Amino acid sequence: MKKRIVLALGGNALGKDLAEQMKAVKVTAVAIADLIEQGNEVVISHGNGPQVGMINLAMEHLNIPLSVCVAMSQAYIGYDLQNALREELLFRGLNKPVSTIITQVLVDEDDPAFEKPTKPIGRFLKEEEAKLLEADGQAVMEDAGRGWRRVVASPKPKRIIEIEAVNCLLNAGQVVIAAGGGGIPVVEKDGRLIGASAVIDKDFASCVLAKELNADILIVLTAVEKVAIHFNTEKQQWLSALTVEEAQALIKEGHFAPGSMLPKVEAAVEFASSRQNRRALITLLEKARDALGGKTGTIIEAQNSER
Ligand code: ADP
Ligand code: MG
Repeated sequence: MKKRIVLALGGNALGKDLAEQMKAVKVTAVAIADLIEQGNEVVISHGNGPQVGMINLAMEHLNIPLSVCVAMSQAYIGYDLQNALREELLFRGLNKPVSTIITQVLVDEDDPAFEKPTKPIGRFLKEEEAKLLEADGQAVMEDAGRGWRRVVASPKPKRIIEIEAVNCLLNAGQVVIAAGGGGIPVVEKDGRLIGASAVIDKDFASCVLAKELNADILIVLTAVEKVAIHFNTEKQQWLSALTVEEAQALIKEGHFAPGSMLPKVEAAVEFASSRQNRRALITLLEKARDALGGKTGTIIEAQNSER
């Protein structure tokens, strides 16, 4: 049966630089086209960590605000992704327009996140490089044993400003890329929208997008096939299905790393509990079709949901 799907693409779907992205989007387009070919309505959102870091670095001497860098990253990633997907769909004989909506996402100017930067962006740095940036007044942190990175504020998304445009295109049978990089963070003041210096988590923004579009399923595509408990330890156990309550209990027990798996499980729980029969799926990019068919991935749904 035809479903309305919001797909949240992780870093592995896009690569870390220009050359990697050009290659990665081809593989990503195949995975997405599989779902479109089955007749589903598909909206795509994506992360932008490496890209927004790269753009921000290149724009350093021009004083370009971070919100503008996020806008640039949406356009750059959307351009590559929409063309790769268009090509893959045409190859399969599907003549469906694919377009990218430059998307703003409302945040609260009093969000406590503005006081405490937590979101890593840009390339991994050596400790010495990081300390130099820190001395220059920029926030940096060690990112899960993988090296140092710059960090910026990551407020919670409240509302998708361009939601009607996305909905219209979707209802017209088109494929839409929206809320890229978590969306351009804006605050509302006297009826005006003003860019905020932050990067919204793409998993949370995708959840808001899915809720506002009344999607059936939120699929978070990442670098692991399933969610695990005791991840990366001897006791590691992959999970195939979780109720909202079970997922909440595991969150409390600290099984999911903040900044990587935690926001995905939190977004999944939030979506699956927001209305009857809404489900969330976390899996590997290449396994999207199998996971949607119930063969793999971790599904999170309310106990009383009906298929
Ligand atoms: P993305 O770019 O897709 O958002 P992230 O690196 O932010 O990817 O998050 C996905 C990563 O989270 C996985 O590749 C894995 O290394 C890590 N991870 C942390 N905790 C868990 C867990 N409990 N189960 C599975 N993966 C986990
Ligand atoms: Mg992530």
